[in-house]
Formats: sequence, C-alpha cells, structure tokens
Amino acid sequence: MSRIEAQSHDRSPGPSDPSGPEAPPTLSIVVAAYNEEDVLDLFFARLEEVLSGIGESYEIVCVNDGSRDRTAEILAAARRRDPRIRVINLARNFGKELAMTAGLDHARGAAVVPLDADLQDPPELIADFVRLWREGYDVVYAVRNARDTDSWMKRTTAAAFYAMLNRVSNVEIPKNAGDFRLMDRRVIEALKGLRERNRFMKGLFSWVGFRQTSIEYERPRRAAGKTKFNYWKLWNFALDGITGYSTAPLRAATYFGLAFAVLAMFYGIFLLVRTVIFGTDVPGYASTMVAVIFMGGMQLLVLGIIGEYLGRLYSEAKQRPLYIVESALGFDDAEE
Ligand code: UDP
Ligand code: MG
Repeated sequence: MSRIEAQSHDRSPGPSDPSGPEAPPTLSIVVAAYNEEDVLDLFFARLEEVLSGIGESYEIVCVNDGSRDRTAEILAAARRRDPRIRVINLARNFGKELAMTAGLDHARGAAVVPLDADLQDPPELIADFVRLWREGYDVVYAVRNARDTDSWMKRTTAAAFYAMLNRVSNVEIPKNAGDFRLMDRRVIEALKGLRERNRFMKGLFSWVGFRQTSIEYERPRRAAGKTKFNYWKLWNFALDGITGYSTAPLRAATYFGLAFAVLAMFYGIFLLVRTVIFGTDVPGYASTMVAVIFMGGMQLLVLGIIGEYLGRLYSEAKQRPLYIVESALGFDDAEE
C-alpha cells in the first residue's frame, strides 16, 4: 500500500494541538490579486461573512502578484485587522498561474480553495464545497452553467479550445470549470510535486486525479475593476495548455510531411510521364511558385511548432524557481 493510501483520511484539521497558535486551519482560501484595489474591500467583507457562517477555522492566503496600485497596502491593512489573513508579496508580476501556485504552496489548511479577487467565484459556494468534501470527495469543482457573462467571442474560442485539448491530450479537463474548487490536503501535496514552469493549473488539477465531483453555478460579472486578460494572453495560455498536455502537434507535423512527400512523389511521376509523352513545355511557373511558397510556409509552421516545445524544454532545463517572494506577512520565517 502506498504512503498516501495508508494515511488516515478523516477531515479533521491535522495532528497538532488544535488550541495552539500554529494549529493549521480547516480551510485555506487562496487569492491571487493583481491591481485589485477597487474590489478587495468588497471581497474581504463578503468572504468573511460567508466564512463566519460556515463556522470552520480558516485562513486567507493573499498573493499580491506584483501589483502597481494600492493592493499591497490594502492587504497589509486587512492583515492588521484580521490575523487570519496572510499576505505574500511577489517580487514582480508572475501571472495568475504562478501567483496561485505561491498561494497553494503556503496554504496550510486541511482543504484549500483558490478564489478570484473580483468575486466572480461566489464565496457562498464554499459552504457546498465543504459539505461534499466532508462526504468524502477530494476535489469539488464549480462548473458554470452558462457563460452569458462572457462575450460571444470568448465563449466560442473557449469551447473550441477545450474540445481540442480534450481530444489531443490524455487528461480530461472539465468544460466550463475554472480554478474555483476545493481541494483536499492530499491533492495539494500531490500538486506541490508538479514543479513545471509553464503551468496550466486546470490541467494539473485534473492530472493529479483523486475523487472529484462538481457543482453548477452561475458566474457573475466582475464586482469592480477590470479584467487582467486579453486575447493575446488567453492565446498564450491556450498554447501552454496544449503543449503541456500533448505532443500531438509534433506528431501532426510528421503526418503533414508524409502526406506532402507522397503527393510530391505522384506529381513527380505525373510530370515525368507527361514529359515523355508530350515533350517539355515551358509554362509551369505558377505551379512551381505555388509549390515553393506552400512548402516554405509548411516548413516554417512545423519549425515553429518544434520551437514551442523546444522553448518550453529550455525554460524547464534552467530550473529557475517558479516565483520570487519579495516579502510575506504572517509566516514564521518572514518579518512582519
Ligand atoms: N491575476 C493575477 N495575476 C495576473 C493576472 C490576474 O494574480 O497577472 C488575478 C486577478 O487579480 C484575479 C484573477 O487572477 O484575482 C482573475 O483575473 P481576472 O478576473 O482579470 O480574469 P478573468 O476573470 O477576466 O478571466
Ligand atoms: Mg475575473
């Protein structure tokens, strides 16, 4: 029996003395915030109301992802008000996936819930998460039942992306599910073992497995502030998703190459036969150019695909840390 299976699987906070100051809480809420000064006060007010209603011990791990507005001050002030709020300031903007990773690494709860700062992940759902977790599920994720708060463009591109990803990769990533979910400590420990630099957290969440279930909800609009994502960022995110979970594009290049080689061979035979029967003819400039340009384009495309993988391999090979913590509030080894 593996070590993980051998562990007891009750949903109590952990082995240490629950009255001690260092007892890990039952729930860790992890929030990545990048320039969220407009929404944070609203966020804490609503979250704290929901959490006190649930009645479990909790901590809120806030990761300030290199914000250039007053996010850091607001988080520090929130911590002075409530010591259950802990703050990690990253040294620069590392992007949501890495900010969330920093938060998951530092969370101590028996169950961990990543949450967006803009209240698009309604905290009220956490009560349902906890109930299903107590029933024995390791992962409870939220699925939005409609995407009508997203634009038509975002909806169609997202649907196409997930359809393709699930086809070409061997992890099943649930459609319309975001990062909003509850994960048992066992899942978090498993996730901590995945230190790849090009991260696509939704894929990693699925990759680790465990007993999963879902709840439907309606995703509201941002409570305040504006989105940090544009189509270019989403496109790069999609590339990380595809290249991180599948080498199908590399294989596709092989088949493209093969198909064109076969076509070229038949065309060559055709030209040979035609020359033998009808003699040489000068015209043929157009078809030559088409073939040259097309093949040139194909070769660049395939090189580009190889480059995507090579580039990722390069960034993994450097073994740099995933993120740099500039300062932290509420952690043993950090100054207050
Ligand atoms: N975020 C972050 N770093 C970034 C971009 C975003 O930590 O570089 C956080 C942001 O503060 C928010 C969450 O990620 O809490 C989701 O971002 P947003 O609401 O802008 O994305 P959308 O909901 O529009 O996809
Ligand atoms: Mg949002």
